Parts: sequence; C-alpha cells; structure tokens
Amino acid sequence: MAKIKTTFFCQNCGAQFPKWVGKCTSCNEWNTIVEEIIQKESQGANRSWKQSNSLKKASKALKISDISITQEDRVSTNNDELNRVLGGGLVNGSVVLLGGEPGIGKSTLILQIALMMQNKVLYVSGEESQTQIKLRAERLAGKNENCLILTETKTQNIFKSIEETKPEVVVIDSIQTLHTDYIEASPGSISQIRETASELIKFAKETNTPVILIGHITKEGAIAGPKILEHMVDVVLQFEGDRNHTYRILRAQKNRFGSTAELGIYEMLNTGLREVSNPSEILISEKDADLTGTAISATLEGMRPLMIEVQALVSTAVYGTPQRSATGYNIKRLNMLLAVLEKRAGFRLGAKDVFLNIAGGLKVEDPAIDLAVVCAILSSNEDAVIDQNVCFTAEVGLSGEIRAVNRIDQRIIEAEKLGFKRIILSKFNKIANKNYQPTTPVGGIEIIKVSTIEEVVRVLF
Ligand SMILES: [Zn+2]
Repeated sequence: MAKIKTTFFCQNCGAQFPKWVGKCTSCNEWNTIVEEIIQKESQGANRSWKQSNSLKKASKALKISDISITQEDRVSTNNDELNRVLGGGLVNGSVVLLGGEPGIGKSTLILQIALMMQNKVLYVSGEESQTQIKLRAERLAGKNENCLILTETKTQNIFKSIEETKPEVVVIDSIQTLHTDYIEASPGSISQIRETASELIKFAKETNTPVILIGHITKEGAIAGPKILEHMVDVVLQFEGDRNHTYRILRAQKNRFGSTAELGIYEMLNTGLREVSNPSEILISEKDADLTGTAISATLEGMRPLMIEVQALVSTAVYGTPQRSATGYNIKRLNMLLAVLEKRAGFRLGAKDVFLNIAGGLKVEDPAIDLAVVCAILSSNEDAVIDQNVCFTAEVGLSGEIRAVNRIDQRIIEAEKLGFKRIILSKFNKIANKNYQPTTPVGGIEIIKVSTIEEVVRVLF
C-alpha cells in the first residue's frame, strides 16, 4: 500500500511547510496553514499529459542570429475589447487566467467568446451542467458549431476528451473545480490548484494550444488559490465592475505578450456582454439641466483616450470633522488637491464635506484628471455651472501650478471628436499638430493654455 504523504500549505500565499505552524513565515498571515494529502501515484502510471508523445514538440537550441523575428502566432477571439487587452489575440500555447468575483460574468464572457470564435473550442465546465450551459448559450448572440461543451472535473478525463476532439482553444471553468488523480487533496485546495494548473500549462506548451482558465477571487481581491498560480500563467486578466452597475472592465494584471495598460469595457445586457467601442459616450452622463459640480476630463487609459465625467459635491460639514470621500479616485490625492485649493488659491474648504465620484464606476490613475477634479469641486463650492462644451486635461502640482501631461494630441483629438468646443490644458504642453494651436479653433476646438488655478477660474466663472 502506498504511504500517505501530506504537506502543509498556506491557504493565503501557497507557501509549503513540512509541519504545522501558527503563522506563515512567507506572507505573515495567522492560521492559514492547512494540511493537505498529496499522495503521489506509483512509478510508471500514465501520468497526466506526459505520455501522449504524439503531439510533443522538442525544442532545439538556436544561435541568436538564426532566430527569425516573427509575430507570435495569435488566434483572434473576434472580440475587439478582449483582443486589445490581450495585445492582439490569444497567443498559441499561452495560458490565460481570468479572475473576477463570483457573479460578475466571467463565464458569460468566455462562453460568448467561445461562441463567437471561428476556431474549435472545448469549453470544460465543472460548475454547470451541459443543459445549463446550453440555456445560457441560447441567450447569447454567437453561434459557433465548433464549440464543444464538456462537464468534467478530472484532468485525466479532460485530456482524454482533448485527444478525441482536438480543440484549437481550451477553456476551463473554473480552475477551482478541477482535481487530478495524483493528489488526494480536495478540489480547490492549494495543492490541487497548483497541480491541475501545471498539467494544463504543460499541455498548452507542448501542443501549442491556448488555454483559458477561469478563477474565482477572494473577498480581498486576490485570485483564490496560490499566488504561485499567477506566476505560472502567461497572462492574468481581471474582470471587474460593480454587480449593480451594468459596466464591466477587463484589464491585464500581467501579460507576457503585451502591455498591461490596456482596458476593455463591456456593458452587461440580457443578451450577454456588449463591447463598448466608444466608452466616452457612456462615461459622460446625459444631462439636460445645467448642473453644478461636474467637469469632463480628457484622460488616457492605456493607449486609449477616454472622456470621463468627474462629479463633486461640496457642502458645509454637519459634524465637527469634515468628511472626504472619493470613488474611483485616490483619496490622498483628493486631500492634497483640497489643501492646494485652500493654501494656494484661497478657497475655504477646510470646514466643508467633499464627495467625489468618477462616473461609470471607473478607477482613474491618470494624473491628467486632476484639473477636472479641481474644477468640479470649485463648481460645486461656488455653485457655478461649467459649460458642457469645455473639458480639461492637466495635472495639478503642490504649488497650484498646472502641469503638462503626456500624449496631448491624442487627448485633444478625442475631445474634438466628441464635439467639445474648448479644452483647457497646461501652457507647458507642447502640441505637435499644427492644427491644434491656441486661439486657432481649426477643426472646431479652441485650446486654452493656463498655468495657475486663478487663471482657470478666470476662464471658467
Ligand atoms: Zn502565506
């Protein structure tokens, strides 16, 4: 009889220990160490993917001068937003981990993509029955005759099915439901996740087949399972959004084949997730009345210009300590801007509550939004409306100076495209395009260059 072998794993970070300890020495969490049985199979057993030599490709060492530069072979997903975030499509042989909170729509997104692709896709679900998936697919738009659905959680059986069906793309929903025969621990445990993922990664690399793994996320926002999983895969995508909002954002946390700055935006509809190809339109709320406290910023998310609406509410504090809250914007930066307004521009905001919100549920890190934040606050504080045709793009420094931002031309072009009449930016910004010069509203947008908050106030109010 085989001897039962166990090891202790930290459920938080995946670190391995020979015996139980109270505190993980790797991530410093208490009470996260759990014993898992990892009885290994006896020698000679048909272990996972290894035995199928037919598809195996041995690689050969090459002189660096002999290596030709080719684009990675990519499979288009027929979904522009996903292609953009991936850097142009799924790279053959790559493993993509898609994480997100339960119920956010990960399965819907991937099933929809499987149905829209031209390629043969094997969709393996350990979460839902084939009938449930069929019902879900009925609601979605795509019709891929080559989309195969398998309900299975054992990797050995999945590989058997892969050998029979020879899919071009494999989807696993979700990695937490899988188990392999060679480890005794229960599905979802650290050692099972690590082992099943490494079997799938091996399969992907040896057959050059892209694999998409869906993974759930814990309350703290980490992908449930070992942190090590994120290091093992090639691409880590995060699907986020508020379940109560209809918009979802897809971003890359890690991408071996492209930038992590790109962003995909989707709208959740009854018929699935709609790609939002012109996000600026949805991020600016429709309003007919002239409301105070809103300002539009020309920002960049990755390579993509976005016009984003900033909303502020300034009111007299009811309690002694004024409240400051920011949604989608860094609270520390908000406090900094309020201090700048107080000290450098003479606005008395010390005894006021300030609430700030970025429309559409986005989180913005582009510092170019600063000026719009300042203007939204001033608009609410002074009860003065900002013209709907004006937008802003500049960073605000500690001495109240208006600073230049990168890729200004792209921002101006986007603002012009959306019909803005004036854009306010730093006087230090160099504009390459001759069409966009101050006081020459060629193409319908006037450029106003400023260097201090006072100047902005003079222009606006
Ligand atoms: Zn740990």
